[in-house]
Amino acid sequence: STPVSYVAGIGNAARKGILFKGGESIERLSKGQMVSFDKTGTLTKGNLEIGSIKTYDIDENELIRIAAIGEKLSEHPIAKAITKAAELKNIAYQEPLDNFKIDIGEGISYMYKGITYHIGKSPKAKHLESSLYLNDLDFIKNQGETTLTLSTNEKILGIIGVKDQLRTHSQELIHELKKMNLNPLVMLTGDHEVVAKNVSLSIGLDTYHHSLSPVDKSEILKTYQETYQTIFVGDGLNDSIALSYADASIAISGLGKDLAMETADVVILSDDIRNVKDAILISRKVKTTMY
Ligand code: ADP
Ligand code: MG
Repeated sequence: STPVSYVAGIGNAARKGILFKGGESIERLSKGQMVSFDKTGTLTKGNLEIGSIKTYDIDENELIRIAAIGEKLSEHPIAKAITKAAELKNIAYQEPLDNFKIDIGEGISYMYKGITYHIGKSPKAKHLESSLYLNDLDFIKNQGETTLTLSTNEKILGIIGVKDQLRTHSQELIHELKKMNLNPLVMLTGDHEVVAKNVSLSIGLDTYHHSLSPVDKSEILKTYQETYQTIFVGDGLNDSIALSYADASIAISGLGKDLAMETADVVILSDDIRNVKDAILISRKVKTTMY
């Protein structure tokens, strides 16, 4: 038989848009000792805007056009920033492309009019990185922007800097989780160090791990698991590996991201990240009244 407290707990949570997968999910969450977070779309809004642009022998609008042609097939928040910028500038990008490939946590590549393009963290090949490019890259990174490099096999065409905003209640959430004795509170991100550090300091995280591939993220989680019962909080985009590795997982889903629904113990349907705290509190409460 199902205990009354368990049903009440689930009902209360559901009214806030917090969906538990079931008894085992509640149990796992209640045992959590530390919390790890994804950055983009989780601690930040995931609503990116273009900042700095640097081009090498190519028109700025042409850089955006070529980038948008590829990014229209990606679901990453970065991709949305680029196609949105193209639309604002009335740049058409609905042209066909071939060989579209996603390299998760790294970028995308595709062929357009016989040329293979790559957009991501780094250029297609290390030997393309001139000192001019590396200087420009550092400059844009130091402004706190996430940097994307558009390159072909032969040359670097430009750098696009994108900026995100913190979610309204991220700082408050971290403060509350500390009071609940969850320790450490850490961020796992594929983004570079300056952005990782800025976000981490402004919301009060204990530690950040930056420039990670999805595999790196799961490796770091495993290390924490040697000492703690881990909770991972992500938006389900690109973090299904980490979501499934953690002892308990919470997905800030919003609507229409079914991927997170499949792997997470808890799915939060609202935009309010403070529901992460509520989910953990509810799990603890349900647990104590059950036994
Ligand atoms: P996060 O950990 O912040 O959620 P991701 O692991 O999704 O970040 O991505 C890490 C990095 O990979 C991004 O900061 C970006 O440089 C690059 N990247 C990922 N997806 C794309 C894309 N669609 N286009 C260009 N760059 C991308
Ligand atoms: Mg993310």
